[in-house]
Amino acid sequence: RSLKWQLQCRSDIGRLNAPFLAIYESLIPPEEEKAKQKQLLTLLEKLVCREWPEARLYLYGSCANSFGVSKSDIDVCLAIDDSDINKSEVLLKLADILESDNLQNVQALTRARVPIVKLMDPVTGISCDICINNLLAVVNTKLLQDYAQIDVRLRQLAFIVKHWAKKRGVNETYQGTLSSYAYVLMCIHFLQQRRPAILPCLQNSALTPHSPPSWGGLCLIQGMEKTYSVIVDDIECAYFDQVEKLRDFGSRNGETIAQLVWSFFSYWAYRHDYASSVISIRTGSIKSKQEKDWTRRIGNDRHLICIEDPFETSHDLGRVVDKFSIKVLREEFERAADIMQYDPNPWVALFEPY
Ligand code: ATP
Ligand code: MG
Repeated sequence: RSLKWQLQCRSDIGRLNAPFLAIYESLIPPEEEKAKQKQLLTLLEKLVCREWPEARLYLYGSCANSFGVSKSDIDVCLAIDDSDINKSEVLLKLADILESDNLQNVQALTRARVPIVKLMDPVTGISCDICINNLLAVVNTKLLQDYAQIDVRLRQLAFIVKHWAKKRGVNETYQGTLSSYAYVLMCIHFLQQRRPAILPCLQNSALTPHSPPSWGGLCLIQGMEKTYSVIVDDIECAYFDQVEKLRDFGSRNGETIAQLVWSFFSYWAYRHDYASSVISIRTGSIKSKQEKDWTRRIGNDRHLICIEDPFETSHDLGRVVDKFSIKVLREEFERAADIMQYDPNPWVALFEPY
């Protein structure tokens, strides 16, 4: 492994940009898909409003965080401002309402970790999951969407990584691999750590890691005060959200998508310290397992790959990973890194179904 550590980026890496960009472009949802999502949301709002006039519906997940590929399901959160509600009762009632309005495959999953109603809209052909009061997900969706507007390379990288993870079967939390949300956090962390940095840390109020290193690796980003702040489930979610002011942030780093894909996979294959590191986009740095007290298994949380949630900081997105699936994951990272290093057509081999 020590030899692989020193891998240099292949000399023909520039040749790989066009094919990777073409894959990225092919995954972007067309405008008419957005219009159909809107149409379905409007219908749902009308139905929900009759029963719960004060309630609001929010889109969250990949249909709203800009990391959604074409033909994804949509995630909707029904927000009812009443702490006394019984979620199961609301879900069952909601399922009734939807069914009588001809929505199809309506199913209330009241015992799931995140209880939801599933449905399919025959008019738009879109499938949708509705949860109740999962506002942290709505807020982390906004954070991801804000990061995506700073530098297009985040969206490019995340689309490629998500596409790879789906094709290779490592995007299945019920099988111990990682969620799409976790992969996007890994991409954000990775771009925060490039030198010069490609992304800032939006939750760090004033100091953001940046070059030149002669300034101790830190430089003051003007106006990184917390311009957005909400409290959800007793957690303060606050960060700088005027991202239109940060559009030039990454411009001193000229790395292209092929270099970033190469380096992302070699980081997770050969450079990340699985034994002691926690990635944290909240702080824009690596934390130690020690300081998070994530050193031993508690219940089902094994902390074999540690990804701190940006708001729910006690939550490790890697907790679904067990001693079998960590092996699968790391072998897949190594496979991808080796393909990026040696394969003449990595844009084909990378996405071969497992
Ligand atoms: P996909 O395109 O694969 O559907 P997605 O971003 O919608 O990607 P989901 O797994 O459907 O991913 O999750 C939907 C949203 O729920 C995420 O974007 C995130 O806001 C939230 N979420 C998912 N998993 C977690 C988690 N473990 N902790 C906190 N929030 C989560
Ligand atoms: Mg989703």
